[in-house]
Amino acid sequence: MAKKKQVCRNCRRFTTEKVCPVCKSTNLSTSWKGLAIVIDTNSEIAKLLNILEPGSYALYVG
Ligand SMILES: [Zn+2]
Repeated sequence: MAKKKQVCRNCRRFTTEKVCPVCKSTNLSTSWKGLAIVIDTNSEIAKLLNILEPGSYALYVG
């Protein structure tokens, strides 16, 4: 069985570690919906999601 990806509840960044690489939060969730890959932090989607670092983010975290 594939291990489900975890998402930081604080900034919605995907992580494979037990800690978020962006905000160092350990408040992670496996209940998430949607995926946004942000390359340009000046893009509309990055502004909408309040993303300051490029990477993979969930649109919704439960
Ligand atoms: Zn985070």
